[in-house]
Amino acid sequence: MRVDNHSHIILADIGEMVAAAKKHKIDRYSITEHVSQFRPMRESVDFGSVHRHGRVFQDLREYRAEFSKVPESALSGMKLRMGLEVDFSPRYEAKVGEFVNQEEWDVLLCSVHELADKTEVEGTRQRATTRAEAAREWHEYFRLQQMALESDFVPFTILTHPTRLAKGIDRVPDDLDDLLLNLAKTAKRRGKALELNGNDLGFAPELVRKVARACAMAACSVNLGSDSHLPQEVFRKMKEATSLVDEFSLQPV
Ligand SMILES: [Zn+2]
Ligand SMILES: [Zn+2]
Repeated sequence: MRVDNHSHIILADIGEMVAAAKKHKIDRYSITEHVSQFRPMRESVDFGSVHRHGRVFQDLREYRAEFSKVPESALSGMKLRMGLEVDFSPRYEAKVGEFVNQEEWDVLLCSVHELADKTEVEGTRQRATTRAEAAREWHEYFRLQQMALESDFVPFTILTHPTRLAKGIDRVPDDLDDLLLNLAKTAKRRGKALELNGNDLGFAPELVRKVARACAMAACSVNLGSDSHLPQEVFRKMKEATSLVDEFSLQPV
């Protein structure tokens, strides 16, 4: 089955994204908008990381209405899932949970986009760090991802882009394999999948390979998602993700 379980509709119309998914002969396509792109969340939560451009939805009803705009004929057999990408941070966990849990979702992704001091995980360019600073930030990032996996704030099934911090800083720690293995073990125990992310596969494929290896060692399932914001990004690097699934005999969700 061809899937893409991670896409956004704040920069392009849902119809264009669905058409691109059809073009790639995808069987199951998930739209998973950021919770920070909803007016009530923007106004009540001081997110450390948000998209500076792109559509902000007035409420969940306006978002749901987008999905009813897609005619059956445009799908022709493709399953379209309505989901969200939900930011995790201990400081707004309860507020975000309350908002998200108003609705039933086909799929929920969980992401860590900021560190404890509100530093963005993914900056506009890599920050230069010393070896010690880099190790501290990666450990902080994984501590938060572990907390996210242990949290029941929303019924998510997938932790997205676990190596995204590589876009924010210029080096990785020596114990990254251990951090990933421990994360994959927690994901397995909690019944969650880790993501092989299309954006990360473009930027740092060797790190996504480490994610795949850790998932194989922990027998944790994986999610395939392009993290597309534009039609031309739909299904990006999903061939590479599928190769990793085959190579490591992984279980995709
Ligand atoms: Zn994200
Ligand atoms: Zn995303």
